[in-house]
Amino acid sequence: MSAFNEERVLSVHHWTDRLFSFTTTRDTSMRFSNGHFTMIGLRVDGKPLLRAYSIASANYEDHLEFLSIKIDDGPLTSRLQHIKPDDTIIVGRKPTGTLVVDYLLPGKRLYLFATGTGLAPFMSIVRDPSVYEQFEQIVLVHGVRIVDELAYNDVLTQYLPTHEFLGDMVSTQLLYYPTVTREDFKTQGRIPDLITSGKLFADLGLPGLDPKEDRVMICGSPGMLRDLKKLLENRQFQEGNTSTPGAFVIERAFAEQ
Ligand SMILES: Cc1cc2nc3c(=O)[nH]c(=O)nc-3n(C[C@H](O)[C@H](O)[C@H](O)COP(=O)(O)OP(=O)(O)OC[C@H]3O[C@@H](n4cnc5c(N)ncnc54)[C@H](O)[C@@H]3O)c2cc1C
Repeated sequence: MSAFNEERVLSVHHWTDRLFSFTTTRDTSMRFSNGHFTMIGLRVDGKPLLRAYSIASANYEDHLEFLSIKIDDGPLTSRLQHIKPDDTIIVGRKPTGTLVVDYLLPGKRLYLFATGTGLAPFMSIVRDPSVYEQFEQIVLVHGVRIVDELAYNDVLTQYLPTHEFLGDMVSTQLLYYPTVTREDFKTQGRIPDLITSGKLFADLGLPGLDPKEDRVMICGSPGMLRDLKKLLENRQFQEGNTSTPGAFVIERAFAEQ
């Protein structure tokens, strides 16, 4: 059996000239945990051209959704950004990754810290009803450079809080904190600075990070991961992985060049 499925593009949404998302059909054999990533791509000159992508849809949905960067000279995304409904993309059948709630110890609050396309795995997690049963509060912090890069802002502020099944949980338990670094916005600044200064917690009316009751997932640029890992370790948070659960888990949103 092939390691890949061929899926049909159902819809494409361009957020900015650097960012788009799309949905595809989902083969019934495709299983994943919310927060996982898989290899996806296109056939170029008959050969698969693949990159790692987080799955932004939840694992009970009958379609797949991805959030993508557009890199002008990027081998995959220079092409992928032109996909249209009915085009075919290749999707790896073996999703994996560390951003899975099972790799965290039980806790009271779940913090999800993302920059850029690092939001994608957390869009899957915030649509998972079992996460709202395991944690009293879910705090989703999304850092971007400009306001238009706040992808899924409307889904998080309007669609999910009124959703037929998730609405009650989302409106009472999910705190969404978008933050922008290069434009004026109601909340501004880099995530590590917002934590260090305490502004994030003051704005949300929460106590500071506590390894006894808080659990953290991080997905972003390699620099942001380094800063947040150091910050958490200085606060006695232990990193978890696929074999040993911990107080925080990390995944790169992309690899450095
Ligand atoms: C575990 C994992 C999960 C990933 N999930 C996603 C995802 O959900 N969405 C997504 O768009 N990308 C994701 N990526 C990055 C993705 O694999 C590709 O790098 C990206 O699609 C660009 O592919 P490319 O062939 O056009 O350029 P590449 O040659 O792969 O990348 C060129 C350069 O572009 C920059 N870059 C690549 N991806 C990004 C990004 N997402 N944001 C900002 N800068 C970037 C980096 O500097 C990189 O060296 C993930 C990477 C990893 C390791």
